[in-house]
Amino acid sequence: MSRNVVVSKFGGSSMADQVAMARSAQIAIERNSTIVVVSATYGTTNKLVGLVKNAELGQWNECEKLLFQLREKHFDICQNITQNQIISEQLRLHFNELETLIRGVFLLQECSLKAKDQILSFGERISSLLFTEVLRDLTQKDVQLFDVRSIMITDSHFGNATAYTEIIKNKCKEHMNLDGSITYVTQGFIGSDETGATTTLGRGGSDYSAALIAEAADASVLEIWTDVAGIASTDPRICKNALPINEISYNEASEMAQYGAKILHPTTLVPAMRKNIPVFVGSSYEKDKEGTWIRHDASSTPLVRAITRRTNQALLSIRTPKMLNAFGFMSSIFDIFSRHRISVDCVTTSEISVAVTVDLSTLENTKFIKELRDIGEVRYETNYALISLIGNNISGTTGVAQNIFNSIEGINVRMMCLGASDYNFNFLVKEEDSELAIAQLHESLIGEMDENSATW
Ligand code: ASP
Ligand code: MG
Repeated sequence: MSRNVVVSKFGGSSMADQVAMARSAQIAIERNSTIVVVSATYGTTNKLVGLVKNAELGQWNECEKLLFQLREKHFDICQNITQNQIISEQLRLHFNELETLIRGVFLLQECSLKAKDQILSFGERISSLLFTEVLRDLTQKDVQLFDVRSIMITDSHFGNATAYTEIIKNKCKEHMNLDGSITYVTQGFIGSDETGATTTLGRGGSDYSAALIAEAADASVLEIWTDVAGIASTDPRICKNALPINEISYNEASEMAQYGAKILHPTTLVPAMRKNIPVFVGSSYEKDKEGTWIRHDASSTPLVRAITRRTNQALLSIRTPKMLNAFGFMSSIFDIFSRHRISVDCVTTSEISVAVTVDLSTLENTKFIKELRDIGEVRYETNYALISLIGNNISGTTGVAQNIFNSIEGINVRMMCLGASDYNFNFLVKEEDSELAIAQLHESLIGEMDENSATW
């Protein structure tokens, strides 16, 4: 039996104000969305983070300012979309509760990760409340606001919780009627642990929420609506010749997300891949543009389809002569990474040292660095960017490396990783060289836009 469940996610810019919300609602209607997952309105989560910070620092004036801005923005939208007093009353209650929590943080001058998740959840709770009204107004269908916390069950790792996919599947069956008679509007980003405490899936986690819901609901398609019309061959702000990608495989798209393409949260595709659900990425501002389809297989398999960049990279090396002919060093090093939940992108080893690239912020984790120092001498270099070429059969094609190095002649490559994946080739260059490297690589490996191709 194949049901036709469409899960559509709208990001913050698609929720920016009543006009953006109406545009997004229109898309949900045209696409016959069964479940609509929304982010907080544009900039709201950042403001909530700012509120917590100021409250912790005891700066009540700043808190009042931010609370005022948030109230004003959302009441403004509310007034523009509905005369229904019940909605403005609910909005008022949400803001009262938020203010009470912030006052608590201010008085204690401290905020636990648990309390912070509770506070950040207001962004999505408020936007979904408002968006439900916008959608209701435009359709005859039964539109229901759904608290995702009744199905999005996670562990208690506040700030970056892990979802329990099996429980989510069961809860989804139990709590949602997916026969198409109801359109649900629900929240991305937030969840609940088994005790009922609010959790979050990490910043930018709404895409992932939508994918988890699509998996649980056995959806036929997952749509991610954002403010750019799909995925481009590289960041158009860096390279004006960036081309739109109309179709890409899961493997390539996951590598792109992992290695710096900001368009999708890196974990988004994992649930979709498990269930083979095609993912569409499009712009809610230009809904008729082609966008990008991400599927198991794409009809073309170019050697290099895209180039991404991850900035703020550090090269961390751990060196000890004790490694010589010894066993278990790697595992003790990576055990430290895993306990601190630090992901490694690129690794090279020699007999007595291991070098890895990490996000610059990792160096601030003094406990982590100290544990590494207990194993060996730790050194780091900063100001790097990791450039990734994403495509197909990269490790099996002769001459790839030569081709690449020819096109970036004169730029120093500090480290490279080729061979671990068929879908990518990563290398590290100084951040200041990275834009030029991308422009040159794009020109020689992907090419320029011809007159007939769509403009970006
Ligand atoms: N609102 C959350 C954030 O800004 C989640 C999301 O937008 O995906 O991080
Ligand atoms: Mg967002």
